[in-house]
Amino acid sequence: MTRLVLVGPPGAGKGTQAGTLSEKLGVPHISTGDLFRAHIGDGTALGRSVKGILDAGKLVPDEVTNEMVRERLAEADAQDGFLLDGFPRNIAQAEVLDKILAESGHKLDAVVEFQIDEDVVVDRLLSRGRTDDTEEVIRHRQHVYRSETEPLLNHYRDLLLTVDAVGDVDEVTSRVLRSLDEKPHGQA
Ligand code: AMP
Repeated sequence: MTRLVLVGPPGAGKGTQAGTLSEKLGVPHISTGDLFRAHIGDGTALGRSVKGILDAGKLVPDEVTNEMVRERLAEADAQDGFLLDGFPRNIAQAEVLDKILAESGHKLDAVVEFQIDEDVVVDRLLSRGRTDDTEEVIRHRQHVYRSETEPLLNHYRDLLLTVDAVGDVDEVTSRVLRSLDEKPHGQA
């Protein structure tokens, strides 16, 4: 269980969970949102080209995102596993991920879905204070999630572990670890 994807609506607590899970599982936490924000913070050309897109809550074009992920997955620390947070965000990205992994003879072990009600997450996000956390942008990101990202749940149905994301942080972490343990090895 070392090659994992986390999926869930903005505000489901994926980032927080990914940090803890990455320590417990001993694999790097790879967040495309964090990678983009680091570029923006460093003022790189990539950062300058994506800042307006992040601030509007839109998706960065697939070619840009896929290339960044391909490079990140090629780094030494990701060879034995990773926890992807925020990627893939649509079916086309999922297909590219499958291809990148297949090139090195690997595949995903599981896709963890964080299940949570939209109204709960809007309140959570409003208290976070990121530049893309105004109510209007949050609603737009929820819409993008429903139309672009939710179809991944069907795409990954054979790998899917659905976890209730409502509750305190430690409890949700335990639920994820339990469901990873319970998933029989070799299950398609
Ligand atoms: P996140 O930190 O996952 O909420 O991502 C913040 C923002 O980064 C998103 O609203 C998008 O603008 C951009 N982003 C992150 N991951 C992706 C992705 N896989 N594809 C396209 N845009 C992304």
